[in-house]
Amino acid sequence: PRIIVAIDGYSSCGKSSTAKLVAKQLNYPYIDTGAMYRAVTLYFIQNHISLTNPKEVEQTLAGLQISFRRHAELGRNDTYLNGMNVEDEIRKMYVSERVSEVSAIPEVRHALVAQQQRMGRSRGIVMDGRDIGTVVFPEAELKIFMTANPLIRAQRRQQELMEKGELVGLEQIMENLQMRDHIDTHRSESPLRQAEDAVFIDNSMMTLDEQVELVVRLADE
Ligand code: C5P
Repeated sequence: PRIIVAIDGYSSCGKSSTAKLVAKQLNYPYIDTGAMYRAVTLYFIQNHISLTNPKEVEQTLAGLQISFRRHAELGRNDTYLNGMNVEDEIRKMYVSERVSEVSAIPEVRHALVAQQQRMGRSRGIVMDGRDIGTVVFPEAELKIFMTANPLIRAQRRQQELMEKGELVGLEQIMENLQMRDHIDTHRSESPLRQAEDAVFIDNSMMTLDEQVELVVRLADE
């Protein structure tokens, strides 16, 4: 039977890397919900949308279209915003600096959660984020809560940014991760927390392969 695999956890703890490979092995689609929040944030920045005006936020969201397209030949799964490929832009530091603030807006969460639930309707999906096991799919058959120690997370993030040509100091990255974790765990609407029935994985001392193998094994049980 096809199941829902929900992977939640802190920023840059390797959720997406693991989720992507687990999806590949299970032959399920993979949805990166963080990319959706990043795409909304990018649009709000580019169009100077006021975050404090719920009406404006709602109207803006109604006109946004977020989708994913697989480019199998490049081994990429890119994020599209209103038909434009925004994959590279949404990963940049200036988006990371604002994304948690935007993600804390209830109207933003309602719109994206509804879309995520539609995407998982046909079952057989791997989705990662902050509230997948608690809010989007509380009925998910397998829930994972991932973390890693802060220095390792910052180093992984720095490496990712460097591969994309953005040089950012470790200090600034650690501050950003800490700031996002704080906002994500303290917001009023569906704060980040471990679901009661989630399997906790600290991957500080694990390789990517080991994490993937563990999650696939749990999915097969
Ligand atoms: O996963 P990623 O680090 O790309 O997510 C970026 C931000 O989006 C997080 O720091 C969090 O503020 C927000 N987010 C969220 N709920 C999700 C996924 C991401 O609030 N399901």
